[in-house]
Amino acid sequence: MAFDGARRLRAVELPLAPPGPHELVLRVSTCGVCRTDLHLVDGDLTPPRLPVVPGHEIVGTVLARGDAVTAFEVGRRVGAVWMHDSCLRCRWCDGGRENLCRDARFNGLHVHGGYATHAAVDARFCVALPERYDDVRAAPLLCAGLIGLRTLRMAGDDARRIGVYGFGAAGHLVAQAAIHEGREVWAFTRDGDTAAQALALRLGARWAGDSSQPAPEPLDAALLFAPVGALVPKALADLAPGGTVVCGGIHMSDIPSFPYRILWEERVVRSVANLTRADATGFMALAAAADFAIETETFALADANEALERLRDGRITGAAVLDCSVGP
Ligand SMILES: [Zn+2]
Ligand SMILES: [Zn+2]
Repeated sequence: MAFDGARRLRAVELPLAPPGPHELVLRVSTCGVCRTDLHLVDGDLTPPRLPVVPGHEIVGTVLARGDAVTAFEVGRRVGAVWMHDSCLRCRWCDGGRENLCRDARFNGLHVHGGYATHAAVDARFCVALPERYDDVRAAPLLCAGLIGLRTLRMAGDDARRIGVYGFGAAGHLVAQAAIHEGREVWAFTRDGDTAAQALALRLGARWAGDSSQPAPEPLDAALLFAPVGALVPKALADLAPGGTVVCGGIHMSDIPSFPYRILWEERVVRSVANLTRADATGFMALAAAADFAIETETFALADANEALERLRDGRITGAAVLDCSVGP
């Protein structure tokens, strides 16, 4: 299902090349639907060429592998993430921050992604998946879970009271990771989204309510997954001194100006960009230990447009996942 500049994805047939030296050819089983895919379709991100197949939460089985690949055997289940590859030579890559590499390429933006029956991915950026999660439940781990955890790490290890703003795919996973680590979670949802608030409480949140409500207690960190710039000053106002607002999305509407006093007292606003290979292995170890409850709604690959529309309208509880076992 390819994006060719129009707002609706189209079913296309593309040739599948034999794998390059570091590549795996996957038979895709499932692919998660991420808000970043919506940003692509809505024109907030610019792919270098069209058409491009979206999708970067790819669960598949290795059909073929390049000569230089030793990590994953043919027949093995693997996960592919947002990072397709990076230069592996620059100062960012050398320092374990390949997520900031100027030459990084991303699955579903620079390279065809997982809204497809097959995908070619770079084995060096793939990750093994914990066996306790089936292919549907494993898909959202690969971006929502990973980005969620990187966002939580940016809040600092001593942040106890964590506000999660936007309780969808990433929010419901990071909440469980935070609780697993002994932190407390306050969940802020789209106003009136009682389904997401009920989910948050079921998963162990201390409190759940509308994003427009003030936090009942000052928070140590605010993790923003809703792409709403107006939430930045709102979340800053919810923080205790020294607290951090972490913006977890790749795109956000403009942030309105705000009075300096809500940033004063060493409050911080920062973003996270992409993810590293260390994030992926670290998060999968946590997911294997924690037994996350993963809420999914599954769509046939041919119904990718419907999944995107429902995500745009806030009509998905948890994460949307495409079943790619059958082509469109
Ligand atoms: Zn994503
Ligand atoms: Zn690099």
